[in-house]
Amino acid sequence: MSRLLFEQALAAARELYTLTPAMREFRDWPDDLLFVNRPASPVPATELMPLLPGAASGYTRHLQRALAAISPFVEWRHTYSEAEVGRDFLDRYGWFELVGPHGHFHSAKLRMTVGYWGPDLWYPWHEHGPEELYTIVSGSALTLADGEEDRRVTAGETRLHQSRQRHALQTEGQPLLAFVLWRGEGLDAMPQMSAA
Ligand code: ZN
Repeated sequence: MSRLLFEQALAAARELYTLTPAMREFRDWPDDLLFVNRPASPVPATELMPLLPGAASGYTRHLQRALAAISPFVEWRHTYSEAEVGRDFLDRYGWFELVGPHGHFHSAKLRMTVGYWGPDLWYPWHEHGPEELYTIVSGSALTLADGEEDRRVTAGETRLHQSRQRHALQTEGQPLLAFVLWRGEGLDAMPQMSAA
């Protein structure tokens, strides 16, 4: 049962990829995908995301619904400790790897993760080696990155973070559900929090 839901989520992700030039230009769609049976790992965001996904656009709604449907079955992660981000953040944040070396679909060629932040959360400054492209599925946030203007993003919009470019985000009245593509060295490495 859940395998079908995962296949539907992958199809919806591919549909958004096909409709979003910045995603297509970032990396080819991987041709080595293999479904992996991974254990579900709930966090508080498992229930919060489907209840409060934020506003989608016409062409992100399909993926929003598909991600809500797999939420109870995914291996949600937190990565950050309570000391780094606080309890409230961990209670309303989570991410999972849909595709990648440790994803629900294995690929050695591309990593695709999903991140969720509840309303009024500050995601502190951090950086990482691989480049990442955020595509907003629903909700909105103010995104901050070194050397660039702060920019409020909503459904269907993208934001690219270069290798080692420090970035942060602030959600306001809306939550944020983002679909993230990764490329470059160190795809397995976890983001490092940096001094504010
Ligand atoms: Zn990042």
